Amino acid sequence: MSSLRFKVVEEASNRKAVPVDIPKARPQEYYASKVFNRAKMYEYLPIDTYKALINAIDNKEPLSRKVADSVAEGMKRWAIDNGARHYTHWFQPLTETTAEKHDGFVEHDGKGGMVEEFSGKLLVQQEPDASSFPNGGIRNTFEARGYSAWDISSPAFLMDNTLCIPTIFISYTGESLDYKTPLLRALSAVDKAGTAVARYFDPKVNHVISNLGWEQEYFLVDEALYAARPDLVLTGRTLMGHESAKNQQLEDHYFGAIPSRVEAFMLDLEIEAHKLGIPAKTRHNEVAPNQFELAPIFEETNLANDHNMLIMSLMSEVARRHNFRVLLHEKPFAGINGSGKHNNWSLGTDTGTLLFAPGKTPKDNLQFITFVANVMAAVYRHNALLKASIMSATNCHRLGANEAPPAIISIFAGSQLSEIINKIKNSDKDDLIALAGKEELNLGVAQIPELMIDNTDRNRTSPFAFTGNRFEFRAVGSSANCASAMIALNAAMAEQLADFKQKVDSRLDAGEELQHALLAEIKALLLYSEPIHFDGNGYSDEWKEEAARRGLDCETNPALIFDAYLRPSSVEMFRKTGVMNHVELEARNEVKWEMYTKKIQIEARVLGDLAINHIIPVATRYLSILLDNMVKIRTLFPGNKGEELSSQDAVTVEKIMRHCSVIKEEVAKMVNARKEANQIETEREKALAYSHDVAPCLEVIRYHIDKLELLVDNEMWPLPKYRELLFIR
Ligand code: ADP
Ligand code: MG
Repeated sequence: MSSLRFKVVEEASNRKAVPVDIPKARPQEYYASKVFNRAKMYEYLPIDTYKALINAIDNKEPLSRKVADSVAEGMKRWAIDNGARHYTHWFQPLTETTAEKHDGFVEHDGKGGMVEEFSGKLLVQQEPDASSFPNGGIRNTFEARGYSAWDISSPAFLMDNTLCIPTIFISYTGESLDYKTPLLRALSAVDKAGTAVARYFDPKVNHVISNLGWEQEYFLVDEALYAARPDLVLTGRTLMGHESAKNQQLEDHYFGAIPSRVEAFMLDLEIEAHKLGIPAKTRHNEVAPNQFELAPIFEETNLANDHNMLIMSLMSEVARRHNFRVLLHEKPFAGINGSGKHNNWSLGTDTGTLLFAPGKTPKDNLQFITFVANVMAAVYRHNALLKASIMSATNCHRLGANEAPPAIISIFAGSQLSEIINKIKNSDKDDLIALAGKEELNLGVAQIPELMIDNTDRNRTSPFAFTGNRFEFRAVGSSANCASAMIALNAAMAEQLADFKQKVDSRLDAGEELQHALLAEIKALLLYSEPIHFDGNGYSDEWKEEAARRGLDCETNPALIFDAYLRPSSVEMFRKTGVMNHVELEARNEVKWEMYTKKIQIEARVLGDLAINHIIPVATRYLSILLDNMVKIRTLFPGNKGEELSSQDAVTVEKIMRHCSVIKEEVAKMVNARKEANQIETEREKALAYSHDVAPCLEVIRYHIDKLELLVDNEMWPLPKYRELLFIR
């Protein structure tokens, strides 16, 4: 009997909810208590320093060394007052996680003792020994210097008695080695281009701000069961496991009550999130068993993204307190829903207008449709790039599978917005002049903004959907750094808005009236971007054919999808907007291909080991029991009778032997394919070889192991089964 599996199943089944230490104070009192926010700055900094820092933050200006020293001193005092002993520059390398290097505050005092020191220099800039972070060849190892520099737009915070300072991470020669640097550049580009266009409508606008509200999906698995699944531990997903007889068919998990152990975890997580100033708001069950979701209130994109990175590590930490492991992988289990991270994205002005929200007046509506038309054009123009921005070795299992958007980017507009779009598209020049001239632009939306938010049909099959006052980019993977998608999207939007501005301005220069110029250009954009607009069922096969006919990017191989970053149109867009240069783009793709290869490589090794050392031996043992049995039956009942009575066993024996032999052959084939692929020098070609020759073996091996799971004695099966992983909590 497989004692480990039954032991962990018992352990997990007996677990009770862990009590949560609920603060006595109300959330508003402990909210952001671990954040060095403006209130703390005001309290801990000399007034001149405070003013200089706020000015630098608000106006995106650099800090002088003197101010930095003073800020560092105040920040250190606050941190120490709150129990900190260490500080770290907290940054986001290209590995999709965050990185930290902790240092103590201690320095020699020159008299044989120690003082707690933290200078402005250490606050503002550091040189982490960063040669082990992926850099795509930008930093040669002999020049292994990378700088991390404080991003003053994101406040420092305390995590586990460590003062964490959000930083960008760049090479000695100035190229970005992280996600935050290009994100900040993209946000600044869309601010500039967006402000110029928003000023057609309101000259008082000084900034356009990009907002992000992410919805984080995840699975929870009991830690004992998790530990008994080497594939989960090492790759984040199950590489084998037959579908459970019951999974999500009844959708009873989605509508059911939150299980008590999970509820305790969620409460604990929410309290910790609030202390860190993360405005966690909604939590609920998701469709698949043991799948859940957490969403905060949206924030400015850079901060929201930091908060998402933070919540992912917080989740793992808090889950351990509740004897769970959190799975952020996009597809931890075959056959049921995967996890995404919807990125709700909008642009707003510093004067308080949401630019994708239909307004109350005709003028507001012209502004609304201006920005929406530019989104459609930008997404159409760069649909291949946007797909590349969300693609990874893990997310590719989710896209196009159970209830996930396909690997084709399209925009769902909903019936009301579609009506407006069609109206403008079909209007001729005279109509437009009439529309524009009347000063009463009536698109039929003036009275319905709230209705629109609630009534957008919520087409869940679309990867990019208009949801009333924002767009929801749903193709983003649950384990990804949202910045990747947000860099591509905001940069593409910045380029598009700048082009739009130029075209409208030439019309104005030629003496056209503003409203007419805008409407003419909007119409042109809506006609141009027609192919990206699709309100139908994105899960259907017809859509795949239709999308190909429309010329949308339909590539499904991740290694090839990444090529979109190096298309001339992408390179030019990133150059014009100042977000990334050619060297950075090439380096990043090297990293993407390398990461892809490594993930498949690890999965292949793990599955090979499990197949040969865990599954085959068990199947063989069961086989010999069956064979023994058959021999005994045939001894007792010689001749035809014995054969007849043992015939079912004979069938099973043959099946098991056949599955085992295919598994052994495929593992050998996979090992060879890996060896050959490893000889390839270029990262792109290597990734392609892994996707063509190695990845398919994983599927075949899995298929046969899953068949064995149904044949072999349950008592002997070594790994926790799907029904145990998914239903015990
Ligand atoms: P759903 O129905 O898709 O679960 P919710 O209404 O719960 O959506 O909102 C999901 C996320 O969208 C939340 O983080 C919310 O704050 C965010 N959100 C709402 N309005 C906007 C907006 N204008 N811009 C960006 N994010 C927004
Ligand atoms: Mg959503």
